[in-house]
Amino acid sequence: MQINAHTRMIGIIGYPVRHSLSPLMHNAEFRRLGLNLVYLAWEVAQPALPLAIRGLRALGAVGFNVTVPHKQAVVAELDELSEEAKVIGAVNTVRFENGRAVGYNTDAEGWREDAELEVPLKGATVSIIGAGGAARAVAVGACQAGAAKLIICNRRFETAETLGELIAHFFPHVQVSWSSLCGDRCRELIRSSQIVINATPIGMADKGGTPIPTEWLIEGQFVYDTIYTPAETQLLREARQRGCRVRNGIGMLVRQGAKAFELWTGLKPDIQSMIATVEHALSTSTTSHQNPSAVRSA
Ligand code: NAP
Repeated sequence: MQINAHTRMIGIIGYPVRHSLSPLMHNAEFRRLGLNLVYLAWEVAQPALPLAIRGLRALGAVGFNVTVPHKQAVVAELDELSEEAKVIGAVNTVRFENGRAVGYNTDAEGWREDAELEVPLKGATVSIIGAGGAARAVAVGACQAGAAKLIICNRRFETAETLGELIAHFFPHVQVSWSSLCGDRCRELIRSSQIVINATPIGMADKGGTPIPTEWLIEGQFVYDTIYTPAETQLLREARQRGCRVRNGIGMLVRQGAKAFELWTGLKPDIQSMIATVEHALSTSTTSHQNPSAVRSA
C-alpha cells in the first residue's frame, strides 16, 4: 500500500521504543492484506503521555500499543477498560471507539494461546517466576484457561504476595501459593508443577543466568521463557538437557500482537507470517531492536 491522504495511523508508545519489533510485524501484515494503515513507533517520556494520547485521538488514529514504562500509567488516561485489563491492572492495546479510548490487555490471551500449543492448562499446576507485568498477564491467562493451582515465586516476597492475593480474589476456584525466589519452599513448589514460566528478565542476551537453579527442574515439565532474545536462554537450554519441553516468548509476542491487530482491523492476521517476520528480524538485524537490554515486550 502507498501512504496517501486516506492512510490511518496505529503505533506503539514506549520509552525506549526503538527496539520494538511491532512496526515490522504489523506493517508486513497491513501490506499483505492491502490495508491502508501504517504502524509507527513513538518514543514518549512519562510526562508527555497524556498529551500524546490526546493528540492521537485528535488525529484520528485507529489505536495504539503501549509498552514499558507506560502500561500501568496509561490506565488513567483511558475512558474504559476491558475486564482483563482491569484484573491485570495494565493495558497494552488501545482502540479509539467512537472517540472513546478503550484499553485492552492482549498479553494474557497471547501467552495462553501460545502455551496451549504445547500443553493443556486446564487442571494444571503452574509456577510463575516473577510478579511484574508479564507475570500478571501469564497468571491471568493461566487462570482463565482453568489452571488448578498457581504458584508465584518472586525475588521480592511482598510483590509475590500482592499478585497472589489479586489472583485469589479474581479466581477463587484456583489454589494460589506464593514464595520468595529462593530456599526449600520455592524449590518444592517448582518441583510440584507441570508448567514453569520465567517472567523475569534473567537470561536476556546481555545478562545470561537462570532465575532458578535448573537442578530444581524435573524431566517432563514444560518450561516457558517469556524472553525471546536469545531464542534459547540458559534456562531453556538446561531445561531441555534435563528432558523438559521448552518454548520461548516469540509466540507470546506475536500472539499478543495478533489480538491487537484483530481489535483494530476486525481481521485475523496470519500468525505464521508474523512469526516469520519477527524471526527474520531477530536473526538478521544488527539494528537497535537487538539491543538486549532494551528488548522487553511488544
Ligand atoms: P517488570 O514488570 O519490571 O517485572 C520484572 C520481574 O522480574 C519482577 O518480578 C522482578 O522482581 C523480577 N526481576 C527483575 N530482575 C531480577 C533479578 N535480577 N533477579 C530476580 N528477579 C528479578 O517486567 P515485565 O514487564 O514483567 O517483563 C519481564 C520480562 O518478561 C521481560 O524481560 C521480557 O523479556 C518478558 N516479556 C515478554 C513478553 C513477550 O511478549 N514475550 C511480554 C512482556 C514481557 P522484583 O519484584 O523482586 O523486582
